[in-house]
Amino acid sequence: MHPDLEKLIALQRLDVELAKLREEIAAVPTRIAALAAQSAAAQAARITLDDAIAKEEKLRRSQESDIQALRERGNKLRKQMDVVTTTVQAAALDHEITFLTAEIARIEDAELDSMARSEFLEAQLPKAREALTAAEANLERERTRGADHTAATQTRVKALTTDRNTLRPTISETALTSYDRIARTRGTALSEGVNGKCSACQMMIRPQSWQDLRDRSRHDLMLTCDTCGRMLYWDPARDAPQKKPADREESIAARIVRSL
Ligand SMILES: [Zn+2]
Repeated sequence: MHPDLEKLIALQRLDVELAKLREEIAAVPTRIAALAAQSAAAQAARITLDDAIAKEEKLRRSQESDIQALRERGNKLRKQMDVVTTTVQAAALDHEITFLTAEIARIEDAELDSMARSEFLEAQLPKAREALTAAEANLERERTRGADHTAATQTRVKALTTDRNTLRPTISETALTSYDRIARTRGTALSEGVNGKCSACQMMIRPQSWQDLRDRSRHDLMLTCDTCGRMLYWDPARDAPQKKPADREESIAARIVRSL
């Protein structure tokens, strides 16, 4: 194995983790903004509901006062009825009283409709209150959690950056230049060869290259994938089934960083 390769593997692990941590830090404000929007929407829904309930109450107050006025007018007309002298007058009064009675009945029906609407709206209140409380609590929790998480992540970023800055000068400039160039365009510069394939692009590695890659005595070779251009490495530990891949990769990176 090329002497730089193991260090590059450790460098890539650091770079990948650093990128992931930076993404996590960047995601916090987005998550908080989404929860703030949810909270604002719940608040707006609550206000809309309160407004609608108030509107129905106002409508019923006005209906009540209309009914009251119509009744007073009806009473007045009935008193006049006692003193009318002609049938024409009586018929006119009777006609008006009938109209007033119908009008009162119409408004009372409308009042019942309004009461039904109020009942429907008030039934939604507990759910709206609950939604608002939950949305505000979620937002508050995420603000606290986000701040804590960001602080912890920043500490980790600082530690990993120190490791990275310690590691990079131990790698040859040629290898480092290639690594940086490929990482810039491909996201990652190294790819593990697994079962004759490049694990990053899944394309077959030429048989001769695959054989060279597995030859641990070839310290001069720095092979790249013909398809994606990533630098290839082969990990013999993958053939050891008792180890889990995560443990093994961790051990490579940890060992390199520790040995610096
Ligand atoms: Zn490839």
